[in-house]
Amino acid sequence: MSSDTRETSDIRQHDFLIIGAGMAAHAAAVGIRAQGATGSIAILGAEADGPVERPALSKDLWSGDDAEGTSALKDTAGETGASLVLGDAAASIDVEARTVTTESGAVHGYGELLVATGGVPRTLDGLDEGERVIAYRSLDDYRRLRALATATPAPRIAVVGAGFVGTEIAASLSRTDADVVLVHPGARVADHVLPDELATELERELTEHDVDLHGGAEVSRGEVRLDGVTLHLDDDTSVDADVVVIGLGVRPATRFVEGVLDLADDGGIVVDEHLRTSAPHVWAAGDVAQYPDPILGLTRVEHVDAATTQGEAAGRAMAGGTEPYAHTPIFWSDVRDLGYEAVGTLSTRLQTVVDPVGDGTVVYYLDDDAVRGVLLWNVWEQTDAAKEVLAGPRPADPAELRGRIG
Ligand SMILES: Cc1cc2nc3c(=O)[nH]c(=O)nc-3n(C[C@H](O)[C@H](O)[C@H](O)COP(=O)(O)OP(=O)(O)OC[C@H]3O[C@@H](n4cnc5c(N)ncnc54)[C@H](O)[C@@H]3O)c2cc1C
Repeated sequence: MSSDTRETSDIRQHDFLIIGAGMAAHAAAVGIRAQGATGSIAILGAEADGPVERPALSKDLWSGDDAEGTSALKDTAGETGASLVLGDAAASIDVEARTVTTESGAVHGYGELLVATGGVPRTLDGLDEGERVIAYRSLDDYRRLRALATATPAPRIAVVGAGFVGTEIAASLSRTDADVVLVHPGARVADHVLPDELATELERELTEHDVDLHGGAEVSRGEVRLDGVTLHLDDDTSVDADVVVIGLGVRPATRFVEGVLDLADDGGIVVDEHLRTSAPHVWAAGDVAQYPDPILGLTRVEHVDAATTQGEAAGRAMAGGTEPYAHTPIFWSDVRDLGYEAVGTLSTRLQTVVDPVGDGTVVYYLDDDAVRGVLLWNVWEQTDAAKEVLAGPRPADPAELRGRIG
């Protein structure tokens, strides 16, 4: 395997250049090699760390003593010979010259380019990231939060948002001595995705592990002082904490390609079934990519299965592979002893059919009588069955769905 990178004048030339040193980037480098390509691979990363197994940051790492999180790092260079250029974000792409310029002014030339920059966490008014405020996403966020959570005296930590990351991190923080409160807008925790019976079960799991719940109001703004943070909620209440963790989802990290690549309304990069963007020799994968899914239609998925399978498929395609990306990704979450897998759209704005199965529950989410999402709550090895339901005809009566899975 040759991984030489050539320097021509001030341009560092690479056969394969990947922007974003995350999960899709690692998979893409693996895919390039699996396709048999021996050319040079370079990965540009905004952070100081290389690709990391991101789900571990809100789960596994908290049950061990790896405070630096090194066990979650991928050995991308060792496995693929890729060179990692870290701590210098890509600032612009010139698709005519086939170059990428970084914030430090370095210029990288490419044969094939992959954009895999993931998401930028949402923040809140008055809560810019700082010593006491973490919009949780990176390995460095994990290190900082772990140090804060295990300090003496034990701090009070407010987690804002009851999505996947918010509920997981609140549950994991409860393994420390920190006093944890989860601030969320629902009448029940995560009731934007979970029917009442499952939201109740999730609340029980959290409160049994000493997570306080503060529901029913949104944070309208925050106030950071030297000695703490106050969250002001839109029902005129407030929550005081030493540290605030924001888990309010992400927007695609694509501002640097605006006007260069075709973007969807939500900022996702539009790709075809081969993960090709609107510009020649430029591909996209992972959280940033809006692609045509064979079952779900045009979609963008912010989960690991999508990032790794798309990353690998894009790597193969960049190295000459001709197979389209035809996988429908699943996703999963674990909150202490509760866990689930899912496919498609989960939203309680849709009609739901709840089907208790063994020790778990299957929930079907329907829109206009068509199944748009399936949640497998403590129901395992049924994601293929869930995809079959999603791909199948509309049920004549939604109640017929009961018994289809499990
Ligand atoms: C804490 C946490 C837990 C999660 N747990 C789960 C889970 O249990 N199950 C699940 O299915 N999904 C989970 N996810 C989601 C999953 O991790 C993501 O979908 C996945 O990491 C996306 O991969 P990616 O390569 O597209 O982006 P990322 O892995 O986020 O990598 C993108 C990288 O690009 C870098 N970058 C951004 N802009 C630039 C730029 N201009 N130049 C250079 N680099 C740049 C970023 O710093 C980042 O390191 C979790 C996410 C988080 C944050």
